[in-house]
Amino acid sequence: MIQGDVKRVAQSIRVPAADPRASFLAHRGEIEEAVARVLESGSYILGEEVAAFEAEFARYLETGAVVGVASGTDALVLALKACDVGPGDSVLTVSLTAVATVAAIELAGAEPILVDIDPASFTIDCDHLESTILALRREGAAGKNVRAVVPVHLYGQPADLPGLLDIARRHNLRLIEDCAQAHGARTNGKPVGTWGDAGAFSFYPTKNLGALGDGGAVATGNAALAGRIARLREYGWERRNISVEPGLNSRLDEIQAAIVRVKLRYLEAENATRRKLAATYVEGLVGAGLVTPGPREGSHHVYHQFVVRSPRRDELRAFLQERGLGTLVHYPVPVHLQPAYQGRVRLGPGGLPHTERACAEVLSLPIHPQLSLDEVREVSGAISEWARRAT
Ligand SMILES: *Cc1c(COP(=O)(O)O)cnc(C)c1O
Repeated sequence: MIQGDVKRVAQSIRVPAADPRASFLAHRGEIEEAVARVLESGSYILGEEVAAFEAEFARYLETGAVVGVASGTDALVLALKACDVGPGDSVLTVSLTAVATVAAIELAGAEPILVDIDPASFTIDCDHLESTILALRREGAAGKNVRAVVPVHLYGQPADLPGLLDIARRHNLRLIEDCAQAHGARTNGKPVGTWGDAGAFSFYPTKNLGALGDGGAVATGNAALAGRIARLREYGWERRNISVEPGLNSRLDEIQAAIVRVKLRYLEAENATRRKLAATYVEGLVGAGLVTPGPREGSHHVYHQFVVRSPRRDELRAFLQERGLGTLVHYPVPVHLQPAYQGRVRLGPGGLPHTERACAEVLSLPIHPQLSLDEVREVSGAISEWARRAT
């Protein structure tokens, strides 16, 4: 598509799938005040705002510590490194995720091994995870180095955390949660990011807790791990100019920290809005012949995305687009079929049939805290109309 076409399509979309500008405008006064405060302070790197955000987010998550970093990708890399996962090790994760999850494992120096999803929840299939671990262990040498599992709480739905904790304990694996889409999600009342050894969060602008630029954080209840991540994010410095191990530069900056401090105050209310919008979609889509999300028992889903399934996804998407209703696909191509990974990345036994089928059928409908119930009704009404025409 040439540039002009992209613009024309963008202009004709009345109801966008995500709207980070609306989120800025909703909190404009407080954000501008926070940014001005940082600009005036003269302290732009690892100052009071980052420290205050880390304390506030740790309190929100009811966990020991949070370390602010430069992105969600880096949060995963640093959590893995701090757990001593690196070259010679392998790490299990899913292929139905942002490429970042798999990229982070390779950036840490380890080998990703991809496992299928449970099609009802779109999160890692614990049975396939376990059969993959057993197959690797049977291989001998390679299997001994299976060191960690990185479940992704995809679309805001927690993965099966009790099941994962059990597998991690029995097979002596580190559990590092990819929470980039699930700020505030909980299982049995306990926040995601606090079940495993560490939880990695992204503050990319469209996430449930979004900055106005890049940012991320690692949460952990393990003080030693938190200390090591804080060291690794800044050249391995134990104190200024003294590197006790090789690290990198991955700091959350003061301006973004000040912005996510504002947004954090609204996270619970905005997640409640997302849940209300999701419930309205479910009601409006009865009889439309689509599969709508069914949250797992005991899970508090925060609907980063509201994802439906249809074997005629592309047709439905085009129909909605013509009416100015924006949708997205998370994800059109699974990581193991991306040019950078295909034929190179290892898969669990039997391959990933549920992942591949999901990529052909999933559709993310508009959902964000500034979306109105009327807009949701307009989208579900259009889908119902499409369904009636189709039959
Ligand atoms: C957004 C996202 C990431 C990466 O976060 P960045 O801040 O963009 O690096 C990782 N995993 C998942 C599941 C994501 O959605």
